[in-house]
Amino acid sequence: MSSIRQEILEAIKKYDRIIIHRHMRPDPDAIGSQVGLAEVLRASFPEKEIYQAGGPVEGLDYLAVMDEVADEKYEGALVIVTDTANAPRVSDDRFTRGAMLIKIDHHPNDEPYGDIVWVNTKASSCSEIIADFAFSFPDDLVMSKEAARLLYAGIVGDTGRFLYPATTAQTLELSGRLLSYGFDAAKLNRQLQQISMKVARLSGYLYQNIEADENGAAKVILPKELLEEYGVADSETSHLVSLPGTIDVLLAWAIFVWQPEGYYRVRLRSKGPVINEIAKRHHGGGHLLASGANARDLEEVAEIYGEIQAACREFRNSTK
Ligand code: AMP
Repeated sequence: MSSIRQEILEAIKKYDRIIIHRHMRPDPDAIGSQVGLAEVLRASFPEKEIYQAGGPVEGLDYLAVMDEVADEKYEGALVIVTDTANAPRVSDDRFTRGAMLIKIDHHPNDEPYGDIVWVNTKASSCSEIIADFAFSFPDDLVMSKEAARLLYAGIVGDTGRFLYPATTAQTLELSGRLLSYGFDAAKLNRQLQQISMKVARLSGYLYQNIEADENGAAKVILPKELLEEYGVADSETSHLVSLPGTIDVLLAWAIFVWQPEGYYRVRLRSKGPVINEIAKRHHGGGHLLASGANARDLEEVAEIYGEIQAACREFRNSTK
């Protein structure tokens, strides 16, 4: 067994107070890995103080809500950050105030912050890493029904219900073990999949208005007026991002979502062409096939789309 897991377990045993953070604009894997780990630690070490920190969970409160953590709690605490590649994306910047910092993540390790860094880019999700960690130490760590529910939610969320290529035999094995804890998986899957009527209508707009080229590149721009017309906020757009993936001719695409500050949030997805290098050139990053970035205006939106088109063209040529 890798020593990094042992090191993390030893750190967890050593500290009486543990505060767990995740990234801003959380998705089910951010919350699943963060609070899943918190619940495993609560079940394993009832005498320790365990907190989950970070801002509002934006419509995911059926998964968990955050704790209010006073400043002084950070003194002498172990802080663990899950699912977050770089320090500026950690939700609640007090995460550096503990006595020790651990990063656990599955994104490319562009910024290895922390005293211990455990990154496994082959894992489908950070929740898969946490589940694997918990099951690795049956004498020390206890999986609870609630922890299993949260970790399962994170895996389902990041794999698009076991659809994306990062899904492995291990993903399914661990998911099966989690299911055996008896939480209501049908209800959870429904909650994860459910959308509001207004998001459904905006999905119709997306399918009607998506612009694509002959090499499988595509884009959808959601400007201010449109978001207002449909009454949809940025935080509700996550359902839209995977929709172009169902269109047979598409290879890589971006959804550009207008932000109240004036810039566009860029959500990039791909079935093959590498897109995280594009994201990195535009104040973002992420996985090879699922990334995020920011465009200051429509000019940068056009630039990013041009780069997606080039990536699709090259990919097509290289696979001919
Ligand atoms: P999203 O489209 O926001 O769901 O993001 C997809 C992936 O890209 C996730 O793995 C994020 O962690 C990553 N990502 C999104 N936005 C950024 C950003 N501004 N900087 C770095 N990574 C990002």
